[in-house]
Amino acid sequence: MRHIAIIGSGPAGYYTAEAAQKALGEAVRIDIFDAMPVPFGLIRSGVAPDHQSIKGVSRRYEKVALSDNVRFAGNVTIGRDVSVAEMQELYDAIVLATGAPNDRALDVPGEDLGNVFGSAEFVGWYNGHPQFADLNPDLSGRTAVIIGMGNVALDVARILAKSRAEFVGSDIVTHALDALDHSKIARIVILGRRGPHQIMMTPKELGELGELERAVPRVAETDLPPLEADAVLEPGLRKSVTLLRSFAATPESVRAEKPISLDFVFMSSPKALIGNDKVEGVKIEKTHLVDGRAVGTGTFETIPADLVVSCIGYRTSPIPGVPYDERAGRFANEAGRILPGLYCVGWARRGPSGTIGTNRPDGYSVVEKIREDIEAGALGPVRKTGRAGFDALAAERDLEVVTFRDWKRIEEAEEKAAREGAPREKFVDIEAMIRARE
Ligand SMILES: Cc1cc2nc3c(=O)[nH]c(=O)nc-3n(C[C@H](O)[C@H](O)[C@H](O)COP(=O)(O)OP(=O)(O)OC[C@H]3O[C@@H](n4cnc5c(N)ncnc54)[C@H](O)[C@@H]3O)c2cc1C
Repeated sequence: MRHIAIIGSGPAGYYTAEAAQKALGEAVRIDIFDAMPVPFGLIRSGVAPDHQSIKGVSRRYEKVALSDNVRFAGNVTIGRDVSVAEMQELYDAIVLATGAPNDRALDVPGEDLGNVFGSAEFVGWYNGHPQFADLNPDLSGRTAVIIGMGNVALDVARILAKSRAEFVGSDIVTHALDALDHSKIARIVILGRRGPHQIMMTPKELGELGELERAVPRVAETDLPPLEADAVLEPGLRKSVTLLRSFAATPESVRAEKPISLDFVFMSSPKALIGNDKVEGVKIEKTHLVDGRAVGTGTFETIPADLVVSCIGYRTSPIPGVPYDERAGRFANEAGRILPGLYCVGWARRGPSGTIGTNRPDGYSVVEKIREDIEAGALGPVRKTGRAGFDALAAERDLEVVTFRDWKRIEEAEEKAAREGAPREKFVDIEAMIRARE
Protein backbone atom coordinates (compact mmCIF):
# COMPACT_ATOMS: atom_id res chain seq x y z
CA MET A 1 0.00 0.00 0.00
CA ARG A 2 1.25 3.48 -0.92
CA HIS A 3 0.17 6.59 0.97
CA ILE A 4 -0.42 9.92 -0.73
CA ALA A 5 -0.97 13.20 1.14
CA ILE A 6 -2.60 15.99 -0.82
CA ILE A 7 -2.17 19.37 0.85
CA GLY A 8 -5.11 21.60 -0.08
CA SER A 9 -8.72 20.67 -0.81
CA GLY A 10 -9.42 23.08 -3.67
CA PRO A 11 -10.04 21.93 -7.25
CA ALA A 12 -6.41 20.92 -7.81
CA GLY A 13 -6.40 18.77 -4.67
CA TYR A 14 -9.64 16.98 -5.51
CA TYR A 15 -8.76 16.40 -9.18
CA THR A 16 -5.47 14.89 -8.00
CA ALA A 17 -7.33 12.58 -5.63
CA GLU A 18 -9.73 11.59 -8.40
CA ALA A 19 -6.81 10.88 -10.75
CA ALA A 20 -4.94 8.86 -8.10
CA GLN A 21 -8.02 6.76 -7.44
CA LYS A 22 -8.45 6.06 -11.13
CA ALA A 23 -4.79 5.35 -11.87
CA LEU A 24 -3.73 3.54 -8.70
CA GLY A 25 -7.04 2.25 -7.34
CA GLU A 26 -6.92 0.13 -4.20
CA ALA A 27 -3.13 0.26 -4.17
CA VAL A 28 -3.22 3.72 -2.52
CA ARG A 29 -4.68 5.55 0.46
CA ILE A 30 -5.17 9.26 -0.08
CA ASP A 31 -5.42 11.85 2.68
CA ILE A 32 -6.47 15.40 1.72
CA PHE A 33 -5.43 18.04 4.23
CA ASP A 34 -6.64 21.62 4.50
CA ALA A 35 -5.72 24.51 6.75
CA MET A 36 -9.41 25.43 6.90
CA PRO A 37 -11.95 23.25 8.73
CA VAL A 38 -14.04 23.37 5.54
CA PRO A 39 -13.08 21.98 2.12
CA PHE A 40 -12.98 23.20 -1.50
CA GLY A 41 -10.59 26.19 -1.40
CA LEU A 42 -11.56 29.00 -3.76
CA ILE A 43 -14.76 27.24 -4.79
CA ARG A 44 -16.03 28.39 -1.40
CA SER A 45 -13.97 31.51 -0.79
CA GLY A 46 -13.07 32.85 -4.27
CA VAL A 47 -15.78 32.05 -6.83
CA ALA A 48 -18.35 34.82 -6.67
CA PRO A 49 -21.34 34.26 -4.34
CA ASP A 50 -23.75 35.12 -7.17
CA HIS A 51 -22.29 32.36 -9.36
CA GLN A 52 -23.83 29.41 -7.54
CA SER A 53 -23.89 27.13 -10.57
CA ILE A 54 -20.06 27.28 -10.74
CA LYS A 55 -19.82 26.43 -7.05
CA GLY A 56 -21.87 23.31 -7.82
CA VAL A 57 -18.66 21.60 -9.01
CA SER A 58 -17.98 20.75 -5.36
CA ARG A 59 -20.65 18.00 -5.66
CA ARG A 60 -18.26 16.20 -7.96
CA TYR A 61 -15.45 16.54 -5.41
CA GLU A 62 -17.77 15.21 -2.74
CA LYS A 63 -18.06 11.92 -4.63
CA VAL A 64 -14.29 11.57 -4.43
CA ALA A 65 -14.24 12.60 -0.79
CA LEU A 66 -16.75 9.93 0.15
CA SER A 67 -14.82 7.03 -1.34
CA ASP A 68 -13.25 4.56 1.04
CA ASN A 69 -9.63 5.19 0.13
CA VAL A 70 -9.89 8.99 0.41
CA ARG A 71 -10.01 10.96 3.64
CA PHE A 72 -10.38 14.70 4.38
CA ALA A 73 -8.45 16.12 7.31
CA GLY A 74 -9.33 19.78 7.84
CA ASN A 75 -7.99 22.38 10.26
CA VAL A 76 -4.42 21.17 9.73
CA THR A 77 -1.86 23.62 8.36
CA ILE A 78 1.09 21.85 6.80
CA GLY A 79 4.25 23.81 7.47
CA ARG A 80 2.89 24.96 10.85
CA ASP A 81 1.08 22.12 12.65
CA VAL A 82 3.11 19.43 10.89
CA SER A 83 6.21 20.08 8.79
CA VAL A 84 6.70 18.84 5.24
CA ALA A 85 9.71 16.82 6.48
CA GLU A 86 7.46 15.06 9.02
CA MET A 87 4.86 14.40 6.32
CA GLN A 88 7.60 12.89 4.15
CA GLU A 89 8.33 10.42 6.92
CA LEU A 90 4.67 9.35 6.93
CA TYR A 91 3.63 9.44 3.27
CA ASP A 92 5.20 8.07 0.06
CA ALA A 93 4.12 11.10 -1.94
CA ILE A 94 3.14 14.63 -0.91
CA VAL A 95 1.26 16.77 -3.41
CA LEU A 96 1.09 20.47 -2.60
CA ALA A 97 -2.24 21.84 -3.84
CA THR A 98 -2.08 24.93 -1.66
CA GLY A 99 -3.17 27.46 -4.29
CA ALA A 100 -1.97 31.06 -4.39
CA PRO A 101 -3.73 32.89 -1.55
CA ASN A 102 -1.57 36.02 -1.30
CA ASP A 103 -2.18 39.19 -3.29
CA ARG A 104 0.60 40.21 -5.63
CA ALA A 105 1.81 43.64 -4.48
CA LEU A 106 1.16 46.69 -6.64
CA ASP A 107 4.60 47.95 -5.65
CA VAL A 108 3.68 51.62 -5.78
CA PRO A 109 3.94 54.28 -3.06
CA GLY A 110 0.80 54.61 -0.96
CA GLU A 111 -0.12 50.95 -1.17
CA ASP A 112 -0.51 50.84 2.63
CA LEU A 113 -3.08 53.65 2.78
CA GLY A 114 -6.46 52.93 4.34
CA ASN A 115 -9.25 51.47 2.18
CA VAL A 116 -6.75 49.93 -0.25
CA PHE A 117 -7.18 46.17 -0.55
CA GLY A 118 -5.93 43.30 -2.62
CA SER A 119 -8.55 41.12 -4.23
CA ALA A 120 -7.78 38.15 -1.94
CA GLU A 121 -8.76 40.35 1.01
CA PHE A 122 -11.78 41.98 -0.61
CA VAL A 123 -13.14 38.79 -2.18
CA GLY A 124 -12.42 36.97 1.10
CA TRP A 125 -14.49 39.61 2.90
CA TYR A 126 -17.65 39.19 0.82
CA ASN A 127 -17.18 35.42 0.62
CA GLY A 128 -16.77 34.99 4.38
CA HIS A 129 -13.14 33.80 4.57
CA PRO A 130 -12.34 33.89 8.31
CA GLN A 131 -9.07 35.74 7.69
CA PHE A 132 -10.86 38.68 6.04
CA ALA A 133 -14.33 38.71 7.57
CA ASP A 134 -13.42 41.78 9.66
CA LEU A 135 -12.00 43.80 6.76
CA ASN A 136 -14.77 46.37 7.06
CA PRO A 137 -14.12 48.33 3.84
CA ASP A 138 -15.43 51.89 3.89
CA LEU A 139 -18.06 52.12 1.14
CA SER A 140 -19.22 55.63 2.05
CA GLY A 141 -17.19 57.34 -0.70
CA ARG A 142 -18.27 57.97 -4.28
CA THR A 143 -15.54 56.30 -6.36
CA ALA A 144 -14.01 52.84 -6.30
CA VAL A 145 -11.01 52.07 -8.49
CA ILE A 146 -10.41 48.45 -9.41
CA ILE A 147 -6.95 47.81 -10.78
CA GLY A 148 -6.70 45.00 -13.34
CA MET A 149 -8.73 43.78 -16.28
CA GLY A 150 -9.31 40.11 -15.59
CA ASN A 151 -12.31 38.13 -14.36
CA VAL A 152 -11.53 38.82 -10.69
CA ALA A 153 -11.78 42.58 -11.42
CA LEU A 154 -15.15 41.87 -13.05
CA ASP A 155 -16.35 39.95 -9.99
CA VAL A 156 -15.37 42.79 -7.66
CA ALA A 157 -16.98 45.43 -9.93
CA ARG A 158 -20.22 43.44 -10.21
CA ILE A 159 -20.44 42.79 -6.47
CA LEU A 160 -19.92 46.51 -5.76
CA ALA A 161 -22.58 47.43 -8.32
CA LYS A 162 -25.38 45.02 -7.47
CA SER A 163 -28.49 45.94 -5.53
CA ARG A 164 -29.62 43.88 -2.55
CA ALA A 165 -32.35 42.29 -4.66
CA GLU A 166 -29.76 41.08 -7.19
CA PHE A 167 -28.10 38.99 -4.47
CA VAL A 168 -31.15 36.82 -3.90
CA GLY A 169 -30.10 33.18 -4.34
CA SER A 170 -26.43 34.00 -3.66
CA ASP A 171 -24.46 32.98 -0.56
CA ILE A 172 -22.86 36.38 -0.01
CA VAL A 173 -22.30 36.65 3.72
CA THR A 174 -24.74 38.89 5.56
CA HIS A 175 -22.07 41.28 6.89
CA ALA A 176 -21.05 42.09 3.29
CA LEU A 177 -24.61 42.21 1.98
CA ASP A 178 -25.59 44.75 4.66
CA ALA A 179 -22.50 46.88 4.06
CA LEU A 180 -23.03 46.86 0.28
CA ASP A 181 -26.66 47.78 0.81
CA HIS A 182 -25.52 51.04 2.42
CA SER A 183 -22.77 51.69 -0.13
CA LYS A 184 -22.59 55.18 -1.65
CA ILE A 185 -20.33 54.17 -4.50
CA ALA A 186 -21.61 55.66 -7.75
CA ARG A 187 -18.54 55.37 -9.97
CA ILE A 188 -16.55 52.16 -10.35
CA VAL A 189 -13.41 52.59 -12.44
CA ILE A 190 -11.87 49.47 -13.98
CA LEU A 191 -8.29 50.38 -14.73
CA GLY A 192 -5.98 48.58 -17.16
CA ARG A 193 -2.39 49.17 -18.24
CA ARG A 194 -3.15 47.99 -21.74
CA GLY A 195 -5.98 48.31 -24.26
CA PRO A 196 -9.27 46.61 -25.16
CA HIS A 197 -7.46 43.92 -27.18
CA GLN A 198 -5.41 42.89 -24.15
CA ILE A 199 -8.19 42.38 -21.59
CA MET A 200 -8.27 39.02 -19.80
CA MET A 201 -12.04 39.04 -19.30
CA THR A 202 -14.21 36.21 -20.60
CA PRO A 203 -17.39 37.10 -22.51
CA LYS A 204 -19.91 35.53 -20.14
CA GLU A 205 -18.59 37.42 -17.12
CA LEU A 206 -18.09 40.67 -19.07
CA GLY A 207 -21.60 40.42 -20.52
CA GLU A 208 -23.06 40.38 -17.00
CA LEU A 209 -21.94 44.00 -16.54
CA GLY A 210 -24.39 44.97 -19.25
CA GLU A 211 -27.34 43.42 -17.41
CA LEU A 212 -27.17 45.06 -14.02
CA GLU A 213 -30.20 46.65 -12.47
CA ARG A 214 -28.70 49.94 -11.37
CA ALA A 215 -25.29 50.09 -13.07
CA VAL A 216 -24.15 50.58 -16.63
CA PRO A 217 -20.72 50.06 -18.19
CA ARG A 218 -19.04 52.94 -19.98
CA VAL A 219 -16.36 52.51 -22.64
CA ALA A 220 -15.08 55.48 -24.65
CA GLU A 221 -15.52 54.95 -28.37
CA THR A 222 -12.12 56.60 -28.91
CA ASP A 223 -10.37 53.87 -26.86
CA LEU A 224 -11.48 51.12 -29.24
CA PRO A 225 -9.23 49.93 -32.08
CA PRO A 226 -10.74 49.98 -35.61
CA LEU A 227 -13.36 47.23 -36.02
CA GLU A 228 -11.30 45.41 -38.71
CA ALA A 229 -8.53 44.83 -36.15
CA ASP A 230 -10.81 42.44 -34.18
CA ALA A 231 -10.60 39.86 -36.99
CA VAL A 232 -7.24 38.53 -35.77
CA LEU A 233 -8.38 37.98 -32.18
CA GLU A 234 -9.09 34.48 -30.88
CA PRO A 235 -12.88 33.92 -30.75
CA GLY A 236 -13.36 34.36 -26.98
CA LEU A 237 -11.45 37.63 -26.86
CA ARG A 238 -13.22 38.82 -30.01
CA LYS A 239 -16.56 38.25 -28.26
CA SER A 240 -15.37 40.22 -25.24
CA VAL A 241 -14.19 43.10 -27.42
CA THR A 242 -17.55 43.04 -29.23
CA LEU A 243 -19.18 43.49 -25.81
CA LEU A 244 -16.93 46.48 -25.11
CA ARG A 245 -18.11 47.91 -28.44
CA SER A 246 -21.72 47.44 -27.43
CA PHE A 247 -21.01 49.18 -24.08
CA ALA A 248 -19.49 52.10 -26.01
CA ALA A 249 -22.66 52.32 -28.10
CA THR A 250 -25.02 52.50 -25.09
CA PRO A 251 -27.11 55.67 -25.51
CA GLU A 252 -26.84 58.39 -22.86
CA SER A 253 -30.61 58.05 -22.26
CA VAL A 254 -30.11 54.46 -21.00
CA ARG A 255 -27.14 55.56 -18.97
CA ALA A 256 -29.09 58.33 -17.31
CA GLU A 257 -31.56 55.79 -15.92
CA LYS A 258 -28.90 54.04 -13.84
CA PRO A 259 -27.16 55.65 -10.88
CA ILE A 260 -23.89 53.67 -11.00
CA SER A 261 -21.34 53.99 -13.79
CA LEU A 262 -18.75 51.26 -14.47
CA ASP A 263 -16.01 53.13 -16.32
CA PHE A 264 -13.34 51.29 -18.29
CA VAL A 265 -10.08 53.25 -18.28
CA PHE A 266 -7.48 51.71 -20.60
CA MET A 267 -3.78 52.38 -21.22
CA SER A 268 -3.20 53.62 -17.67
CA SER A 269 -0.55 52.30 -15.31
CA PRO A 270 -0.94 53.04 -11.57
CA LYS A 271 2.12 54.88 -10.28
CA ALA A 272 1.09 55.93 -6.76
CA LEU A 273 -1.86 55.89 -4.41
CA ILE A 274 -2.45 59.29 -2.95
CA GLY A 275 -3.98 60.32 0.37
CA ASN A 276 -3.20 61.03 4.00
CA ASP A 277 -4.39 58.10 6.08
CA LYS A 278 -6.97 56.94 3.63
CA VAL A 279 -6.71 56.70 -0.13
CA GLU A 280 -8.00 59.71 -2.07
CA GLY A 281 -6.69 59.11 -5.55
CA VAL A 282 -4.75 56.91 -7.95
CA LYS A 283 -1.97 58.61 -9.88
CA ILE A 284 -1.66 56.97 -13.28
CA GLU A 285 0.68 57.26 -16.21
CA LYS A 286 -0.85 56.93 -19.65
CA THR A 287 0.79 54.16 -21.67
CA HIS A 288 1.24 52.98 -25.23
CA LEU A 289 2.01 49.48 -26.43
CA VAL A 290 5.45 48.35 -27.54
CA ASP A 291 5.49 44.67 -28.63
CA GLY A 292 2.36 44.12 -26.55
CA ARG A 293 3.90 45.68 -23.42
CA ALA A 294 2.59 48.84 -21.75
CA VAL A 295 5.22 51.58 -21.79
CA GLY A 296 4.75 54.94 -20.02
CA THR A 297 4.21 58.04 -22.16
CA GLY A 298 5.22 60.57 -19.50
CA THR A 299 1.66 61.89 -19.21
CA PHE A 300 0.25 61.63 -15.69
CA GLU A 301 -3.26 62.03 -14.29
CA THR A 302 -4.94 61.47 -10.95
CA ILE A 303 -8.22 59.59 -10.69
CA PRO A 304 -10.12 60.36 -7.47
CA ALA A 305 -10.62 57.19 -5.41
CA ASP A 306 -12.27 56.47 -2.07
CA LEU A 307 -11.71 52.72 -2.29
CA VAL A 308 -9.06 50.80 -4.25
CA VAL A 309 -9.08 47.07 -4.92
CA SER A 310 -6.13 45.66 -6.85
CA CYS A 311 -6.86 42.53 -8.83
CA ILE A 312 -3.47 41.88 -10.38
CA GLY A 313 -2.75 38.29 -9.43
CA TYR A 314 -1.68 36.09 -6.56
CA ARG A 315 1.34 34.32 -5.09
CA THR A 316 1.67 30.94 -3.41
CA SER A 317 2.68 30.95 0.28
CA PRO A 318 6.16 29.49 0.71
CA ILE A 319 6.40 26.45 3.02
CA PRO A 320 9.61 25.86 4.99
CA GLY A 321 11.79 23.26 3.29
CA VAL A 322 10.08 23.45 -0.11
CA PRO A 323 12.00 25.02 -3.03
CA TYR A 324 10.27 28.25 -4.10
CA ASP A 325 10.46 30.28 -7.29
CA GLU A 326 10.49 33.89 -5.99
CA ARG A 327 10.09 35.48 -9.38
CA ALA A 328 7.06 33.42 -10.40
CA GLY A 329 5.59 33.33 -6.87
CA ARG A 330 5.03 29.57 -6.80
CA PHE A 331 6.86 26.37 -5.88
CA ALA A 332 9.91 25.62 -8.04
CA ASN A 333 8.90 22.58 -10.08
CA GLU A 334 9.25 20.82 -13.35
CA ALA A 335 5.87 19.85 -14.76
CA GLY A 336 4.60 19.36 -11.21
CA ARG A 337 7.57 17.46 -9.78
CA ILE A 338 9.53 19.32 -7.13
CA LEU A 339 11.57 16.20 -6.37
CA PRO A 340 10.64 12.51 -6.29
CA GLY A 341 8.04 12.17 -3.54
CA LEU A 342 7.18 15.91 -3.47
CA TYR A 343 4.92 17.43 -6.13
CA CYS A 344 2.67 20.41 -6.74
CA VAL A 345 -0.52 21.01 -8.73
CA GLY A 346 -2.97 23.79 -9.58
CA TRP A 347 -2.12 27.38 -8.74
CA ALA A 348 0.74 26.26 -6.49
CA ARG A 349 2.30 24.64 -9.56
CA ARG A 350 1.56 27.07 -12.41
CA GLY A 351 0.45 30.31 -10.80
CA PRO A 352 -2.99 31.94 -10.78
CA SER A 353 -4.36 31.36 -14.25
CA GLY A 354 -7.04 29.37 -16.00
CA THR A 355 -10.43 28.16 -14.91
CA ILE A 356 -11.40 25.51 -12.37
CA GLY A 357 -11.22 22.90 -15.15
CA THR A 358 -7.62 23.82 -15.98
CA ASN A 359 -6.61 22.19 -12.68
CA ARG A 360 -7.93 18.81 -13.80
CA PRO A 361 -5.21 17.92 -16.32
CA ASP A 362 -2.69 19.15 -13.71
CA GLY A 363 -4.00 16.58 -11.24
CA TYR A 364 -3.93 13.78 -13.79
CA SER A 365 -0.41 14.61 -14.98
CA VAL A 366 1.03 14.76 -11.47
CA VAL A 367 -0.40 11.32 -10.71
CA GLU A 368 1.42 10.08 -13.81
CA LYS A 369 4.64 11.50 -12.33
CA ILE A 370 3.95 9.70 -9.04
CA ARG A 371 3.33 6.46 -10.91
CA GLU A 372 6.57 6.90 -12.88
CA ASP A 373 8.48 7.55 -9.65
CA ILE A 374 6.95 4.48 -7.97
CA GLU A 375 7.83 2.31 -10.97
CA ALA A 376 11.38 3.73 -11.11
CA GLY A 377 11.83 2.86 -7.42
CA ALA A 378 12.39 6.55 -6.61
CA LEU A 379 9.92 6.52 -3.71
CA GLY A 380 11.72 3.80 -1.80
CA PRO A 381 10.30 0.58 -0.34
CA VAL A 382 6.72 0.20 0.89
CA ARG A 383 7.08 1.11 4.57
CA LYS A 384 5.28 4.39 5.24
CA THR A 385 2.50 4.41 7.82
CA GLY A 386 0.34 7.12 6.18
CA ARG A 387 -2.98 7.76 7.90
CA ALA A 388 -2.18 5.70 11.03
CA GLY A 389 1.13 7.50 11.50
CA PHE A 390 -0.51 10.88 11.00
CA ASP A 391 -3.28 10.12 13.48
CA ALA A 392 -0.72 9.20 16.12
CA LEU A 393 1.15 12.45 15.52
CA ALA A 394 -2.09 14.49 15.55
CA ALA A 395 -3.06 12.92 18.89
CA GLU A 396 0.39 13.62 20.32
CA ARG A 397 0.12 17.28 19.24
CA ASP A 398 -3.50 17.64 20.25
CA LEU A 399 -4.55 18.74 16.77
CA GLU A 400 -8.27 19.24 16.31
CA VAL A 401 -8.70 17.48 12.98
CA VAL A 402 -12.00 18.07 11.16
CA THR A 403 -13.28 15.10 9.14
CA PHE A 404 -15.51 15.10 6.07
CA ARG A 405 -18.38 13.92 8.23
CA ASP A 406 -17.76 16.91 10.53
CA TRP A 407 -17.82 19.16 7.46
CA LYS A 408 -21.21 17.76 6.46
CA ARG A 409 -22.49 18.80 9.90
CA ILE A 410 -21.00 22.27 9.50
CA GLU A 411 -22.61 22.47 6.06
CA GLU A 412 -25.97 21.44 7.49
CA ALA A 413 -25.74 24.16 10.15
CA GLU A 414 -24.85 26.74 7.46
CA GLU A 415 -27.84 25.66 5.38
CA LYS A 416 -30.13 25.94 8.38
CA ALA A 417 -28.89 29.47 9.12
CA ALA A 418 -29.47 30.69 5.54
CA ARG A 419 -31.37 33.92 4.80
CA GLU A 420 -34.57 33.38 2.86
CA GLY A 421 -33.70 32.39 -0.71
CA ALA A 422 -30.00 31.86 0.07
CA PRO A 423 -28.36 28.42 -0.04
CA ARG A 424 -26.39 28.95 3.17
CA GLU A 425 -25.05 31.47 5.67
CA LYS A 426 -21.36 30.71 6.01
CA PHE A 427 -19.60 30.65 9.34
CA VAL A 428 -16.90 33.31 9.13
CA ASP A 429 -15.08 32.22 12.24
CA ILE A 430 -12.96 29.09 12.56
CA GLU A 431 -14.02 28.45 16.17
CA ALA A 432 -17.69 28.67 15.16
CA MET A 433 -17.09 26.18 12.33
CA ILE A 434 -15.46 23.74 14.71
CA ARG A 435 -18.22 24.14 17.29
CA ALA A 436 -20.91 23.55 14.65
CA ARG A 437 -19.77 19.96 14.06
CA GLU A 438 -20.62 18.97 17.61
C1 LIG B 1 -11.87 35.69 -6.91
C2 LIG B 1 -11.77 34.46 -7.76
C3 LIG B 1 -12.87 34.06 -8.52
C4 LIG B 1 -12.78 32.94 -9.35
N1 LIG B 1 -13.87 32.59 -10.09
C5 LIG B 1 -13.79 31.55 -10.93
C6 LIG B 1 -14.90 31.18 -11.73
O1 LIG B 1 -15.97 31.83 -11.69
N2 LIG B 1 -14.77 30.12 -12.57
C7 LIG B 1 -13.60 29.40 -12.66
O2 LIG B 1 -13.51 28.45 -13.45
N3 LIG B 1 -12.53 29.72 -11.89
C8 LIG B 1 -12.59 30.76 -11.04
N4 LIG B 1 -11.51 31.09 -10.27
C9 LIG B 1 -10.28 30.26 -10.37
C10 LIG B 1 -10.35 29.00 -9.49
O3 LIG B 1 -10.87 29.35 -8.23
C11 LIG B 1 -8.94 28.39 -9.39
O4 LIG B 1 -8.57 27.92 -10.67
C12 LIG B 1 -8.85 27.23 -8.43
O5 LIG B 1 -9.49 27.46 -7.21
C13 LIG B 1 -7.38 26.88 -8.14
O6 LIG B 1 -7.39 25.68 -7.44
P1 LIG B 1 -6.27 25.24 -6.40
O7 LIG B 1 -6.75 23.93 -5.87
O8 LIG B 1 -4.93 25.31 -7.05
O9 LIG B 1 -6.24 26.36 -5.24
P2 LIG B 1 -7.34 26.77 -4.14
O10 LIG B 1 -8.72 26.68 -4.67
O11 LIG B 1 -6.89 28.10 -3.64
O12 LIG B 1 -7.18 25.70 -2.95
C14 LIG B 1 -6.04 25.70 -2.14
C15 LIG B 1 -6.39 25.09 -0.80
O13 LIG B 1 -5.19 24.82 -0.08
C16 LIG B 1 -5.38 25.14 1.30
N5 LIG B 1 -4.06 25.40 1.88
C17 LIG B 1 -3.22 26.42 1.57
N6 LIG B 1 -2.09 26.33 2.28
C18 LIG B 1 -2.21 25.24 3.08
C19 LIG B 1 -1.36 24.62 4.04
N7 LIG B 1 -0.14 25.12 4.32
N8 LIG B 1 -1.80 23.52 4.67
C20 LIG B 1 -3.03 22.99 4.39
N9 LIG B 1 -3.86 23.55 3.48
C21 LIG B 1 -3.47 24.64 2.83
C22 LIG B 1 -6.31 26.33 1.26
O14 LIG B 1 -6.99 26.51 2.50
C23 LIG B 1 -7.25 25.98 0.10
O15 LIG B 1 -8.38 25.29 0.55
C24 LIG B 1 -11.58 32.19 -9.42
C25 LIG B 1 -10.48 32.59 -8.64
C26 LIG B 1 -10.58 33.70 -7.82
C27 LIG B 1 -9.39 34.13 -7.00
